[in-house]
Amino acid sequence: MPIRIRLTLWYTLLLGAILIIFSTALYLVLEFSLHAQLDSALRDRAQQVVNGIEVQAVFDQETGQVIIPEADIFSSSSIFIQIVDSEGQIVTKSYNLGDHSIPIDNQLLEQNLNGESSLQTITKQNGMMRIYSEPIYLGPHVLAVIQVGQSLITIENLMRQVLLFLIAGTAFALLLAALVGAFLARKALQPIENINQTAGQIVSGQDLKQRLPCLHTNDEIERLTETINKMLQRLDNFFQAQIRLSADVSHELRTPLTAIRGNVDLLRRGAANNPDELDEALTDIEGELNRMSRLVADLLLLSQADAGLSLRMETVELDTIVLDVYRQARIIAADTVHVQLGHEDQAVIQGDADRLRQLLINLVINAVKHTQPGGTVTLSLHRETEWIRITVADTGRGIASKDLPQIFDRFYRVQEDGRISGSGLGLSIAQWIAQAHNGQITVDSEINKGSTFTLWLPRNNKKPVPEAVSANHS
Ligand code: ADP
Repeated sequence: MPIRIRLTLWYTLLLGAILIIFSTALYLVLEFSLHAQLDSALRDRAQQVVNGIEVQAVFDQETGQVIIPEADIFSSSSIFIQIVDSEGQIVTKSYNLGDHSIPIDNQLLEQNLNGESSLQTITKQNGMMRIYSEPIYLGPHVLAVIQVGQSLITIENLMRQVLLFLIAGTAFALLLAALVGAFLARKALQPIENINQTAGQIVSGQDLKQRLPCLHTNDEIERLTETINKMLQRLDNFFQAQIRLSADVSHELRTPLTAIRGNVDLLRRGAANNPDELDEALTDIEGELNRMSRLVADLLLLSQADAGLSLRMETVELDTIVLDVYRQARIIAADTVHVQLGHEDQAVIQGDADRLRQLLINLVINAVKHTQPGGTVTLSLHRETEWIRITVADTGRGIASKDLPQIFDRFYRVQEDGRISGSGLGLSIAQWIAQAHNGQITVDSEINKGSTFTLWLPRNNKKPVPEAVSANHS
């Protein structure tokens, strides 16, 4: 069921419930107060009559009886009065009763004669009547009982009209509420419908560059539009990255494949018969195969990282790892670059030893690769209060500040002397390993002076990552 119909239904049902409760309460209160007014009017009228009788009653000396004045002088057109003696005989009654009389209930008469007043409602052919009865005293004795009655027909008619008005009013209010509610719900949800349609067009057109028009309404709709636009932006970035990745991977694989094919051609054309040429071609092929294997291994690791590969966490002595990497770095650097150990604290964390070693090797290989012969690469480890800092500092060619924000991106490589080398995956792998340890790699670099890559690892594994990449550029 569409939201706007559901909203309208809920709204109408709620209003209906409120109106019904309110109308019922109004009806009952009105009925109660009208009856209470009537009862009190009857009581007042009975009191007036009794007071009048006390003034106007005459004692008949001959019969020894009290002569009660004509009841009619106390009655009004809508009020009937009747006086009954202790035997239950009507002594007098108002003229408006005509041939009729107010019915006498023997049980109530008994009560009245015993000094109690009573109220009763009786049903006659022409409607209901409310009767109030109370004793008339002569001295301490009950002389007679006065009955004052009034038809309830006026109240009944009024209550019927009120009921009709309330039912019709509630029905009309509900109809109006449903119509207005449906109109308002439609109007309020129209922007969502528009968003739905535009988003549908974007998806069916497969054009993730399109955006929803931004409405500056400062409400939920504006926020929804912004969120969808951000989501489209992320999707677009993701697809662009995928496209770039496939292009980069195929490009990266094409170069070694071309080199291998070239060498195979050479061998076919006779180089295989010449031991020197054969050796050279095989060395080339082996080199290219190694390069391809490294690339495939790096890609595999990154795709596993994307799929949420978890690390094998154990207690790791970082100083031992730094020492291992230092030894390997000396072999990699051969005699061209001087590799040295700087400050070295002892530090132990929970981490994946193999991955951390791989991270530092990547940094060291880069440092050696981008440092001129005679330069220096220094490895240091500092244990601070909250962080462990491992730095790989070189005196190499440095990185331009325009390249710094991108060097951790996959396949990003800096052009050196018009050439591009490497696969551009080393730093992205290193950064992933650092982040998987709740850490971060930052870089500080100055052109022609050198670069310092710093690996920050939290000592309690829960610290947020430190400030990201910073750079000096000259
Ligand atoms: P690759 O695996 O191809 O070396 P990386 O992701 O490790 O790629 O590095 C990306 C780019 O960052 C490289 O192309 C290189 O130009 C630059 N870079 C990395 N480390 C250094 C460094 N120590 N000195 C200068 N440039 C560096």
